[in-house]
Amino acid sequence: ARLKQGLSRTREQFGRKLTNLFSGGGKIDAELYEELETILLTSDVGVTATQYLLDDLRARVRREGLTDAAQLKGAVQQSLLALLQPLEQPLDISGHRPFIIMLAGVNGAGKTTTIGKLAKYFQSQGKSVLLAAGDTFRAAAREQLMVWGERNNVTVIAQEGGDSAAVIFDAIHAAKARGIDVVLADTAGRLPTQLHLMEEIKKVKRVVAKADPSGPHEVLLVLDSNTGQNGLAQVKAFDDALQLTGLVLSKLDGTAKGGIIAAIARGRPIPVRFIGVGEKVDDLRPFVAQEFVAALFE
Ligand code: GDP
Repeated sequence: ARLKQGLSRTREQFGRKLTNLFSGGGKIDAELYEELETILLTSDVGVTATQYLLDDLRARVRREGLTDAAQLKGAVQQSLLALLQPLEQPLDISGHRPFIIMLAGVNGAGKTTTIGKLAKYFQSQGKSVLLAAGDTFRAAAREQLMVWGERNNVTVIAQEGGDSAAVIFDAIHAAKARGIDVVLADTAGRLPTQLHLMEEIKKVKRVVAKADPSGPHEVLLVLDSNTGQNGLAQVKAFDDALQLTGLVLSKLDGTAKGGIIAAIARGRPIPVRFIGVGEKVDDLRPFVAQEFVAALFE
């Protein structure tokens, strides 16, 4: 129910438009496909993924001999599900201790919030967590993490000033000394166009590997779902720089354009580990394709 609520905006726009389109019944014709195309494109599904979905749908309609528009709804759900299913690869932290997770993203994407949510998530599974305040550009980000850590009894490794790589390096050593299960390493927000900052975060990754040759074990991009079609470009740029292992799609509750996930599935299929569906610490869900598609059409 939470997920359904969280996705309410996406559902109201995207899901409802689709439901309306099909509920009238009638023939499956070129006009219907055209309207469907418009809905997909205005929901940030993107040209490539829209084309793919329409082709898949036409094939499904032919294969299953569908003739009535009312039957299309289920077919669209199945096409979407087939497209999104490969992105469902839950994060498994059992292979390393500490399991080092590095987070990247543009300013305001939701990194710091997501770190709090992830800390809570892992703690609720009985794991110990340590935070590295690697956003050394914004003093407020460090403060925010420290306050959060104090309130939740989570150790935060921070330095006044200093550089991101050094803080994270120290944090990994502290985590090893203390037998911590998970290190969550924050980094400063940056745009892919800020080339010197992209070089800096590549360096952070290299320094993590110096502190632990097997790490980082997860490189997450936190992507604001409101970013729209530009989101795919962002994913590609961060992936080119850092070889991402996963995505967190934040603010899916606040956008009517959850379709970005379909664009990612076609354009750069990186596992969506979690989705953010609100500002509270519990508003993080592992991505489950079936649940996501169902929540859209409920
Ligand atoms: P950062 O700059 O990437 O660290 O971004 P923050 O974590 O500070 O988040 C920026 C804003 O987005 C804050 O107001 C958060 O409360 C809000 N935010 C983050 N994740 C979500 C989410 O899943 N849903 C909603 N509605 N707001 C979110």
